[in-house]
Amino acid sequence: MLQERKISLSYNFFQIFTSSNLKNYLKTYFASLYPRYSLIEGQHFLYFKDHQHQGNPAMLVAHMDTYFQTPPWEFFFHGRDQTLTSPQGLGADDRAGIIAILEIIKNRLSFPDILFTDLEEVGSIGAQEAAEKLKSIVKVNFIIQLDRQGENEAVFYDCENQVFKKHILAFGYKEAPGTRTDICVLCPKWDVAGVNLSIGYYHPHSTGEYLNLIHLEKNISRIQLILDKIPAKVYSYQPYDYIISSCSDLPSWMTTPYE
Ligand SMILES: [Zn+2]
Repeated sequence: MLQERKISLSYNFFQIFTSSNLKNYLKTYFASLYPRYSLIEGQHFLYFKDHQHQGNPAMLVAHMDTYFQTPPWEFFFHGRDQTLTSPQGLGADDRAGIIAILEIIKNRLSFPDILFTDLEEVGSIGAQEAAEKLKSIVKVNFIIQLDRQGENEAVFYDCENQVFKKHILAFGYKEAPGTRTDICVLCPKWDVAGVNLSIGYYHPHSTGEYLNLIHLEKNISRIQLILDKIPAKVYSYQPYDYIISSCSDLPSWMTTPYE
């Protein structure tokens, strides 16, 4: 059934979902793209830096961990609505983000830098390490995290850079509220604006989670379009003045799994 999809997602689709060592899989995959990308590896992150920038630089971010302790082994695909689910918990948050990144960088002229983090679900530990270790290395105009539920949502968290918001929302996204994800740690540290965009999963952190392949593919194409039109300027991080920050540690009754 998946072979009938417009985009050939099947080459590594289930391998990514079922991988117990995704880090090694990604290292092997990106090694095959050498010398395009070089790797800076932390204890809890992989940073693939593009050395052949054509056009303006941006960064894509996804996290390698999922809410679930073990990878799924059974999958159900619903042909009518093009959705994938697993009784063990799919983990499309954030394996769908990883899949999207591998699709986005196929057949491109200009390439984004890519950061894969670990332990996002337990407090963005990989992002905290990367924020420190890559501070003097990262030079990008903005960051896109692929870690948001739904079809058309864009979450900017504490960043109130209106010019950046306008630029992203012009691609058809609607601004939505969120709690936290890795860019909440990365953007303030690197003084660059970032957004978390929908990649087609629904009901994360539950066995009812599913991935809508139409919504995933729609956003793969749309993010490619965004990367084709990166303005020649750095969008800076401009924080709101909050009493309680949406990205800080909130009381448990205020948190949702919607990142
Ligand atoms: Zn996530």
